[in-house]
Amino acid sequence: MSTRQSPGTSPRFSLNQLEQRDDFVRRHIGPGTPQIAKMLSDLGFDSLEALIDKAVPSQIRMERPLHLPPVLSEREALHRLREMADRNRVLTSMIGMGYYGTVTPGVIQRNILENPAWYTAYTPYQAEVSQGRLEALLNYQQMVIDLTGLEIANASLLDEATAAAEAMTLARRVAKAKGSAFFVDRDCHPQTVAVVRTRAEPLGIEVIVGDPLSELPDTGLFGLLLQYPGSSGEIRDYRPAVEAVHAQKGLAIAATDLLALTLLTPPGEWGADVCIGSAQRFGVPMGYGGPHAAFMATKDAYKRQTPGRIIGVSVDRFGRPALRMALQTREQHIRREKATSNICTAQVLLAVIAGMYAVYHGPDGLTTIARRVHRFTAILAEGLRRLGFEVATERYFDTLQVKVPNRAQTLLMRARDAKINLREVDAHTLGISLDETTRRAEVEALWRVFAADAGERLDIETLDEAVEEALPSELTRSSSFLDHEVFHLYHGETEMLRYLRRLAEKDIALDRAMIPLGSCTMKLNASAEMMPVTWRNFAHLHPFAPLDQTQGYQQLFEELEAWLCEITGFDAVSLQPNAGSQGEYAGLLTIRKYHHSRGEAQRDVCLIPTSAHGTNPASAVMAGMRVVLVECDDSGNIDVDDLKAKAAEHGERLAALMVTYPSTHGVFEAAIKEICQAVHDRGGQVYMDGANLNALVGIARPAEIGADVSHMNLHKTFCIPHGGGGPGMGPIGVKSHLAPFLPDHPVIAGVNPAAGEAGTIGTISAAPWGSSSILPISWAYIAMMGGAGLTRATQLAILSANYMAKQLSAAYPVLYSGPDGLVAHECIIDTRVLKDDAGITVDDVAKRLIDYGFHAPTMSWPVAGTMMIEPTESEAMRELDRFCQAMLAIKAEADAVAAGKLSAEDNPLINAPHPLAEVTAADWDHAYSRAQAAFPVESLKQDKYWAPVGRVDNAHGDRHLVCTCPPLEAYKEAAE
Ligand SMILES: *Cc1c(COP(=O)(O)O)cnc(C)c1O
Repeated sequence: MSTRQSPGTSPRFSLNQLEQRDDFVRRHIGPGTPQIAKMLSDLGFDSLEALIDKAVPSQIRMERPLHLPPVLSEREALHRLREMADRNRVLTSMIGMGYYGTVTPGVIQRNILENPAWYTAYTPYQAEVSQGRLEALLNYQQMVIDLTGLEIANASLLDEATAAAEAMTLARRVAKAKGSAFFVDRDCHPQTVAVVRTRAEPLGIEVIVGDPLSELPDTGLFGLLLQYPGSSGEIRDYRPAVEAVHAQKGLAIAATDLLALTLLTPPGEWGADVCIGSAQRFGVPMGYGGPHAAFMATKDAYKRQTPGRIIGVSVDRFGRPALRMALQTREQHIRREKATSNICTAQVLLAVIAGMYAVYHGPDGLTTIARRVHRFTAILAEGLRRLGFEVATERYFDTLQVKVPNRAQTLLMRARDAKINLREVDAHTLGISLDETTRRAEVEALWRVFAADAGERLDIETLDEAVEEALPSELTRSSSFLDHEVFHLYHGETEMLRYLRRLAEKDIALDRAMIPLGSCTMKLNASAEMMPVTWRNFAHLHPFAPLDQTQGYQQLFEELEAWLCEITGFDAVSLQPNAGSQGEYAGLLTIRKYHHSRGEAQRDVCLIPTSAHGTNPASAVMAGMRVVLVECDDSGNIDVDDLKAKAAEHGERLAALMVTYPSTHGVFEAAIKEICQAVHDRGGQVYMDGANLNALVGIARPAEIGADVSHMNLHKTFCIPHGGGGPGMGPIGVKSHLAPFLPDHPVIAGVNPAAGEAGTIGTISAAPWGSSSILPISWAYIAMMGGAGLTRATQLAILSANYMAKQLSAAYPVLYSGPDGLVAHECIIDTRVLKDDAGITVDDVAKRLIDYGFHAPTMSWPVAGTMMIEPTESEAMRELDRFCQAMLAIKAEADAVAAGKLSAEDNPLINAPHPLAEVTAADWDHAYSRAQAAFPVESLKQDKYWAPVGRVDNAHGDRHLVCTCPPLEAYKEAAE
């Protein structure tokens, strides 16, 4: 407070003035008032409004301010969220169906889930600054491989149901079978069946649901999906079904449970070709549906057809082991419409947690947990029998079905009175699933639900002595698992704590430096936004809990949906898609369904500009559409003539245009309305990829620009942290004519209140509202920013991008800009000049940035050899300057190479990054000094990030795919 005062008097402020100083907007936005003035004046503007008037085409501007509730302070927002949380009631969940109670070890909750070093990290594209999370993901893969008994695993998928759907399409790609039908075990979870059906329909796959042991056809199948143990709890010996599908050259896929596999013969040992499932019960709270990590394991032979990221072992420049993402040529960024999947953002943070849960417990700890769960279940079953009930499940791990003729409802209600939720299978059957959190008192309480006098009739200790195991003897596990050292070293908390710290220390996340990723909007994830995620009343709800127990969540969804509608101009929002890619897919399906509902099923052409993100073409193909590319002109804009020509050419077959706005080139295309109109004129619909919404909020609304449907990456614009590559949320907004087709859910009715006669697109995620437990983050962000604050954030995002573009243009050409020479919220700089003059590649620049303590911007997308920079509104001017200085210093180094002052063969750029071990080694035989290698700018002496490895050799890792943990000796040998 800089108000002047004369000695002896104290200045007077009104309550209003003082309250305004407790302002979240000011904390979320990096630059303060003087910095904003300086940035504006550098660009030749005297106000933010003047800049925005020039940068954003007037045709698309919204005409009024956002109507959002008055802003809340951090405390007020948390208070409101606490009130909502209080409206949720957490009962003991025994519903099962793929979601189980679990104990998140404190050391993991506090040091991963609640630790920004882990949750603010980006996807590990820059391997050298990501070794910590890559190691954690490798542990996860090793755990999945060991427990399932298969050869390779990926580093997570979005949820169990989508993993099953991905496995189905994997089977279709690799199976030599002639059939086009896919058989699904009737004992799969209902949400899995629903998602598989949705996926199958546009691809022309016939789904047959039945009993795989008695109803499997001898021909016509390319794949079979089993659930082991079944959704009912029953464990069956599926070997005959596996043989039968193999005889047709089809693949057998097992949906399975990692905890059960500590005791059961893994599917990989009884012939399954693919295993999928959820790792939720390994320490990740249910969170009313998510986020959790799904897993997929399969055979080495299918590695090039596997969806999702795979972490692999390679070597660095010094020949030492180093980790990286392997076989990226499978993924949509490169393969586009031929990609193995559209999955981009996955579930890294949750996979890290699940992997660490296994590290912390080790094989013995996990087995003990599993045995205890099983023992409780066996005791429970015997007790129920003695109370006169028929337990229909014969061989089980943790789940029973109990026959209760005509009494399901009554007993369900009595259980609720005892604070327990059970699964209602039908009017005569209840399902009960136990888990790691089950204790004696709960089993006793449950017995009393079934018989009021159970307390007098049953005694746990007596039953414990009497009861045998109920696991099938021919399917008990004999193979060992988790033999690798990492699962044996960290069972004590001190060691675990230090292991987590050591790994986090290897990485650059937002808690260390700005991460200026174009298109990915790495902005502040405020602590206050994050806090509610682990609150009990948000974290511990089962997604299928009765709605009257989840009123707080329902309120959160309604408010968030209404706010997102106001921000985007849409009429309805579906929160089900749990990543942007899933939003694209769901949105295209609503378009498809709309055309079908109007008798225009022939409309199947999707126009996509060449500059589109790889998920766009990949999603279009999954939605059963044909991709037709539209050219871009030299300034990165859609070639409107080409678009019109293609729209006309495909006329009656035109289904949709997918377009990103502002464009992936970081430009507000003035022609966007004309483009949307041209598509509408031909009967097509407009899908707007909303990844760049951070440039629009409060300034323009996608629905007014012409979009019919759009996804919003809540993990970009709305502050959900990236988690090292997930979780995320990709809800879609639609105009009213598409609302009836939004996703619904087979277990929870009313998820799409607008659903009508024509039906919906079906179900696209396992949980009704996707990854619900991270929605408080976006709610809090909007509540604390308010309409004016959000608008200011957008203005600042645009100001900061232009400020950086201006500074960097001294050294690097800025590739695209609008008519006034301004960019939107990001800019593409051309590093190819360094290649021409000094032989320095965009890779060299990215790796040299590491020596300067930075994570590189987005590389070579959408234009090869360039960098796309998005500073966001959250970075202070000081940080923007620091980054620009690094980029300018790198240019100077490249100039020195060009001028012959630095060797072309041995310079700090091509050798970057320089790990500590190299810089401090006894020998140093480079043509430049150690100081230049490590401390090219003075400020690094105060605060230096050391890359733990040298530059990683990508090709080597792809040639020799290893996606399991290397033995520790490998590190020792390499060091010698
Ligand atoms: C991030 C992004 C996507 C994909 O979103 P995910 O949440 O990673 O699935 C799609 N399009 C663009 C332009 C993006 O930047």
